[in-house]
Amino acid sequence: MRYRPPAVVPLDHILPDEPLLMMGAGPVPVPAKVAAANSIVINHLGETMNRVIEQVKEMARYVFQTQSTHVLGVAGPASAAMEMAVCNLVEPGTKVLSVCNGYFSRRLAEMATRCGAEVSLLEINEPESADPALIEAALKRVRPTVLTLVQGETSNTVWNRDLPEICAIARQYECLVVVDAVCTLSTMPMEMDEWGVDAIITGGQKGLSSIPGVSLLAFSEQAWKRIETRNAPMAHWCLDARLADRFWNLKSYHYTAPVSGIMALHEALRLICIETLPARFHRHEVSSQALQGGVEAMGLQMFVAKAARLNSVVGINLPKGISGDAVRHHMSQVHRVEVSGAFGLEIVRIGQMGEQCRAHHVFRTLHAFGSSLQALGAQVDLPAGVAELERILTVGMEA
Ligand SMILES: *Cc1c(COP(=O)(O)O)cnc(C)c1O
Repeated sequence: MRYRPPAVVPLDHILPDEPLLMMGAGPVPVPAKVAAANSIVINHLGETMNRVIEQVKEMARYVFQTQSTHVLGVAGPASAAMEMAVCNLVEPGTKVLSVCNGYFSRRLAEMATRCGAEVSLLEINEPESADPALIEAALKRVRPTVLTLVQGETSNTVWNRDLPEICAIARQYECLVVVDAVCTLSTMPMEMDEWGVDAIITGGQKGLSSIPGVSLLAFSEQAWKRIETRNAPMAHWCLDARLADRFWNLKSYHYTAPVSGIMALHEALRLICIETLPARFHRHEVSSQALQGGVEAMGLQMFVAKAARLNSVVGINLPKGISGDAVRHHMSQVHRVEVSGAFGLEIVRIGQMGEQCRAHHVFRTLHAFGSSLQALGAQVDLPAGVAELERILTVGMEA
């Protein structure tokens, strides 16, 4: 034998004694039931798995607000679901209009380009919401078959608030709409059927508060028709929606499903169904508003103006001379709270998705943030921030 086993340490030598509270842009903390379900392995085919899959689809339809029979899962990150939506709807030469508000919306454009689409980019001034009038002008000019955009741009914390109107306009131009709802799904309204979304994408580790690695998407009837009648062969075997349909709808084999991750997703979705969407939206809204109010009362400013600001991930400008890396390092080392930096922006991003929107997590995070800033020499009014957080939470929970 040529190679010997490497000398490694057990996991508990690598992991911190006390886990960090994950308050960044994902993954987010998972409920105990989700964590427990994630340890289950059963046969990926057969009666038991079929029942689990039927329930996952039913619950996904509720969360997407659709009656579509084309709900599919994918073993992979949210990006795999993005790629699955794009590469099944796009053929070489297909005209695609990609609304670009930031990093993730550009990823959709790049995926379409790699599929051979003729992609037109509609660059939105960052950090602003996409303006439906600009999109209509671009639709008129480009006449695309597919429009891609995000509901929430996690990278710079911008919300495309006019998504329902944008979908309605796209419909007038007979253009299919692909929406990335990875960070927003189940944190704010998303009405696939009502708004006329043709492909909706989500991951596990953000709004749904499940584990990373299993993602969901749904196609409308119209999108499915296009998939069934496409001419060009699909280059991606794993991401072929018609093959995935075998497992997700026909109870047969495509590839071995990520059983444990699907169990976790089942529990995450079930907890959403128990909570109900309206209550969940309210919890997210109140928690995020309280966090934002607390941050502002400390004397800091938000990165995005109110009108375009995403609730699911909150972006905060840093005081002059304070490094985001230093703040985050101090927060994790001293307070065991982890938040995110941003892609090239001098901001800190705090997640407000799923389990992150619990009062005890938000208090701990605001305290860790404020006292880390003070430790690094910034002037912030931490007591005022905490008081404002408390005030908004109390008012919100009474509403
Ligand atoms: C996180 C995120 C993605 C990518 O998710 P992965 O699981 O890392 O592939 C895509 N879009 C948005 C809006 C996101 O927040």
